[in-house]
Amino acid sequence: MQLVNERYSIQGIDILDLVKKYETPLYIYDSSVIKRQLDRLTNSFKVKNLGIHYACKALNNINILKLINQWGAGLDTVSIQEIWTGINAGFTPDKILYTPNCVGVDEIEMAIKLGVQINIDHIETLEYIGQHYPGVKLCIRINPHVMAGGNEKISVGHIDSKFGISIYQMPLVERLVKALNLNINGVHMHTGSDILDPGVFTFAADILFDIAKKFKDLEFIDFGSGLKVPYKEDDVCTDIEELGEILSEKFNSFCKEYGRDLKLYFEPGKFLVSESGYFIVKTNVIKQTPSTVFAGVDSGMNHLIRPMFYGSYHHIFNISNPHGKPRVYNIVGYICETDTFANNRVVNEIHPGDILCFKNAGAYCFSMSSNYNSRFRPCEVLIHEGKDYLIREREKLEDLFKNQIVAI
Ligand SMILES: *Cc1c(COP(=O)(O)O)cnc(C)c1O
Repeated sequence: MQLVNERYSIQGIDILDLVKKYETPLYIYDSSVIKRQLDRLTNSFKVKNLGIHYACKALNNINILKLINQWGAGLDTVSIQEIWTGINAGFTPDKILYTPNCVGVDEIEMAIKLGVQINIDHIETLEYIGQHYPGVKLCIRINPHVMAGGNEKISVGHIDSKFGISIYQMPLVERLVKALNLNINGVHMHTGSDILDPGVFTFAADILFDIAKKFKDLEFIDFGSGLKVPYKEDDVCTDIEELGEILSEKFNSFCKEYGRDLKLYFEPGKFLVSESGYFIVKTNVIKQTPSTVFAGVDSGMNHLIRPMFYGSYHHIFNISNPHGKPRVYNIVGYICETDTFANNRVVNEIHPGDILCFKNAGAYCFSMSSNYNSRFRPCEVLIHEGKDYLIREREKLEDLFKNQIVAI
């Protein structure tokens, strides 16, 4: 987003014009940012075969998925519904990874029948599939027991985590592979989001390489994701170029030792789409209490729950008054819960009616939205090649009633 002569714009399209056209609250995505991030990631790795699979739980609008498909990346899915969504957007099953956790075997069986790559993180399930679907290609999700991740809810590789098969259970996995003649074609880890230190990442990667040696028919090694993006100016984030250099070298020497060129997989969500998204709201009220000046906006935790759910930071700025006097606000929603977007935040002076913009609203924002308080979910607009496209309309009253049955 650019500020020129008091006006903010994306790809030459004025944000306040979009607000007039589509009203608020409104999600806006800049496709050029997604492409830039995909290119950056691709160029950071110097290996023969690189597979980027976009973790579509971050943002699953069909238009975003179509662009990702067009740009040659695959898809990482965590539910059968995400697989259906991916196929509907044009991904062929061989471009789709399915990494479920705590789902029933009936769902995994549906995925097997669709022909997507199955990634298993549960020993009994492995045993069941081995017996009922001999020969089907399986990837194993390892828990390397490395503490990483920006906060507890997204830190998924540590000892208490529900994700993955523990590295200490590998002897049992190997026994099953032998006994049931399992076709293990990949090993996988996803240690959690917001990894800052390439050292932590490569430490976990070394553990994965050690495990990979135990399987003779691998086609790929999947390093999951956990790539951090900047939220604030001068924020520390994953140095993707450095990580790419270190990991590529390790990977290439592993392949030499293994005797075959494997594919290196990554499955980024946040890294690809977080910075592409902006959430635009209107200020309803400025409310001063003895301790605080609140800016109350026409949205809440129903549309963007990350600050309340796991304390994440979204930079907020005033699009209507870019050069106003900076003042301190608590920016809150209209939901009847304490739904605070930001505490003690310095923003250019806000007046009722002013349009505010949240950054980093591409990943885990719309996709986590709800109808709490019977509010409509916002519309989504994509800016692509200098044009704006409405890619999801704002909900209407009949949407709230849609699946309800008047039974009495
Ligand atoms: C959520 C998820 C990802 C994406 O994580 P980000 O931090 O958004 O990059 C990748 N792989 C799996 C298995 C996931 O569940």
